[in-house]
Amino acid sequence: DLEIAVKVVIVGNGAVGKSSMIQRFCKGVFTRDYKKTIGVDFLERIIEVNCEEVRLMLWDTAGQEEFDAITKAYYRGAQAAVLAFSTVDRVSFDAIRSWKKKVEDECGEIPMVIVQNKIDLVDQAVVDADEVEMLARELHCRLYRTSVKEDLNVRQVFQYLAEKYLSQ
Ligand code: GDP
Ligand code: MG
Repeated sequence: DLEIAVKVVIVGNGAVGKSSMIQRFCKGVFTRDYKKTIGVDFLERIIEVNCEEVRLMLWDTAGQEEFDAITKAYYRGAQAAVLAFSTVDRVSFDAIRSWKKKVEDECGEIPMVIVQNKIDLVDQAVVDADEVEMLARELHCRLYRTSVKEDLNVRQVFQYLAEKYLSQ
């Protein structure tokens, strides 16, 4: 039988929680520092969408985000994307537009979602809920607020992307 496999790239500035999100979703764990231990291109997890099994391959970056040195191989063949920023990092929020453009330049029009991570730190937020919602509307992306640390809404992000991919 045919298996559906979807390559998902997770982009955003450094330290917003991309690697943590991949580890959380694929392995169900959260720790303080994964960077040194991953050493692979992607992790995968099979989910069910409309009674079909879908293999999601979540590609991680090598941590060179700030230098725009992410290689073409990272984006090649990507079928869906997460645009991630952190609740406590203003610069990462301001960079979302350019991350979306980067994905579009490399991959064309693929399903995308905006993720506001570290919502557990909402007391220290440096972005207003309103401006985040406005940006999501402007960019025509659904918005999810997640805490990878507290395992809040992470699965929903990838379930949504898989459904969006399959329904196009
Ligand atoms: P990346 O550079 O985008 O891959 O970010 P990392 O996954 O390496 O995470 C950067 C730091 O943020 C690490 O210390 C993580 O433990 C922490 N982190 C990730 N997600 C969350 C979250 O939801 N809440 C909090 N409080 N910290 C998080
Ligand atoms: Mg990382």
